Amino acid sequence: MTIPTLTLNDDTTPRLGIPQLGFGVYLVPPPDTQGVVERALEVGYRHIDTAQMYGNEAGVGAALAASGLGRDELFVTTKLNNGNHRPDDARRSLAESLEALGLDQVDLFLIHWPLPERYDGDFVSTWQTMVELRDQGLTRSVGVSNFQPAHLDRIVAETAVAPSVNQIEVHPFFTNESARAANARHGVLTEAWAPIARGKVAESPVIVEIAERLGRTPAQVALRWHLQRGDIVFPKSTNVERMRENYDVFDFELSLADVAALSALDEGEAGRTGPNPDRFNWIPS
Ligand code: NAP
Repeated sequence: MTIPTLTLNDDTTPRLGIPQLGFGVYLVPPPDTQGVVERALEVGYRHIDTAQMYGNEAGVGAALAASGLGRDELFVTTKLNNGNHRPDDARRSLAESLEALGLDQVDLFLIHWPLPERYDGDFVSTWQTMVELRDQGLTRSVGVSNFQPAHLDRIVAETAVAPSVNQIEVHPFFTNESARAANARHGVLTEAWAPIARGKVAESPVIVEIAERLGRTPAQVALRWHLQRGDIVFPKSTNVERMRENYDVFDFELSLADVAALSALDEGEAGRTGPNPDRFNWIPS
């Protein structure tokens, strides 16, 4: 099985690009993470999405080390914790992440949340620090997460550097078109978090009907919808059967009508599973 790869706007190394399908580890308990990621790597996933906030980078690192896979076969993302936005904290915390992951360089480092109500509204100096860390070779690419169009417009206007990706909540019940459009306008790839709406796609009669007609599962239909729209996804599962199911999405296609039917399930703001980034201001203690 070959997973398609997409080219990031800031990646100048002749490597693999970013695999369009990866594996997310949010809410994978730290003691279980090594085993879960080892199983995911056995299934075939090569792109792992973790974060300082998830507390499980060390488990990811242990699985990568145990896998015997070459560094250039893997794509590893982590994200800056909300309490680490000040430049010195960002620098220190990436060093800690690299130590936990057992790597000299991550493939992608993201600002996890813009936190416009924190740090005097300054996420621009944080972004400048991210770019500095990339220029030092500690991460191949840099990006953001949960940036609304105004946040993205501001960092590009003030630094002239566009992120490589913006990782935002996207699924059929919250299609987040305004943020996707802003990403596209700036040449930023969209990474869709909660791609199967945390399992809720199985409750939609529209998705269930399409899945039954195609002999697939609702999660597979939702993942196809994302892939055909050009977004990057990394569904999370601790169950090896569901890991395989989520990986097995490259031998069928949705018709344009079926893609449109999923897009029509959008509920706007009411469809979010997570917080609104304009107001989210939580810093872990
Ligand atoms: P998700 O991938 O949409 O859904 C995961 C949930 O669905 C889990 O409860 C999982 O349970 C279940 N599941 C997995 N595969 C399934 C299948 N085939 N059928 C039915 N249920 C299934 O949600 P997510 O974990 O929130 O999002 C994915 C990744 O995005 C995260 O792991 C993380 O890497 C990233 N993320 C980023 C942010 C951000 O702020 N940047 C926020 C949230 C998530 P089991 O484990 O029991 O299978």
